Order: sequence, then structure tokens, then C-alpha cells
Amino acid sequence: MARISWDQYFMAQSHLLALRSTCTRLTVGATIVRDKRIIAGGYNGSIAGGTHCIDEGCYVIDNHCVRTIHAEMNALLQCSKFGVPTAEAEIYVTHFPCLHCCKAIIQAGIKTVYYAMDYKNHPYAMEMFEQAGVRVQYVEFQNSGLHDPEKLKFITELIAKLENAGASEEEIKEWYEKAESLFSVRV
Ligand SMILES: [Zn+2]
Ligand SMILES: [Zn+2]
Repeated sequence: MARISWDQYFMAQSHLLALRSTCTRLTVGATIVRDKRIIAGGYNGSIAGGTHCIDEGCYVIDNHCVRTIHAEMNALLQCSKFGVPTAEAEIYVTHFPCLHCCKAIIQAGIKTVYYAMDYKNHPYAMEMFEQAGVRVQYVEFQNSGLHDPEKLKFITELIAKLENAGASEEEIKEWYEKAESLFSVRV
């Protein structure tokens, strides 16, 4: 049995949170961790009780949806709401944070930012992180703990059979690539 790493576990939590997003433009999740324990989580969405973008469309000004609070902000605000210290904590985000969130992360005393996807990574964000002594690390989310090995085995056997039955090399390659992207593994 393969054991999921801490990085993958916390990143999986952020990806799960992103599924709760109410904005149609981008779904983002953030998890704040201290001493390998999750202390808060957030996704991008409206204020509590507010109108959701998924119901009434985004409120776009200057190409930004102004209705939503970003996932990182929501996670930090959850800490402030319930009086949970964020000093020396770490944050796991599905997407590289925007400049506003970067500043909030630094100011909240977070020491490490792990992100799974590049997203308009701003050079000034990297400059600020460096100045503040915040470590930034890319974590490739592998989805490994979530897939079913039996399903993967079934698919690879099926492709092998099709190969024997005379499917073209190009088709076989395509199916393998599709299987790899579905299961986020190399087969
Ligand atoms: Zn929106
Ligand atoms: Zn942001």
C-alpha cells in the first residue's frame, strides 16, 4: 500500500476545497497548515449569504470578478474569525496567489507557500516573498491517493488487447496519454 505524502495530502485538501468554489471563472482552494495539522481552509466564493457567481454570473470589473473573496483570504479570515494564530504556518494553494493574497500571506506570518499550478505568477510576488523570507515551492499534485489502482489496471489491459487487435500506434499512444492524464500517473 502506497502511503500519501504530507504535501500530497494537504494539496489534495486544497483541490477538494476548490470543488466548493462558487465562481465560474476559476476554482481555487487553500489550506493553512501548522505542525502538520490543518488549521483552516478556504475556496474562492462570495461573502457568506451573498449572491453566487454560479447563480447570477460573475460581477466583472477590469477583467476581475469582484464578487468573490480569494481562497487564501478566506482561509486567513477563518483564522482571524476564530482567533487561530497563523504565524509560522504554511499554506497549500491550488494556484499561485495573486499580489493581494501574497501580501496578506506575508503579513499573516506564513512561512511557506506550496502551489500546484502556475497562475500569472507575478515577479513582484516572488520579490516580496524573497524579501519577507517566505519559501515558495511548487508541488506537483499527483492525485495518487484518490485513484483506484484496479481501474487503472483494467484500462491498461484493455489498451494492450486493442494493440493486439491491430489498433494503430497513434491510437494506442493517444489512449495511453488519456489514461495517464485521467489517473495522473505514468502507465
Ligand atoms: Zn465570479
Ligand atoms: Zn488572491
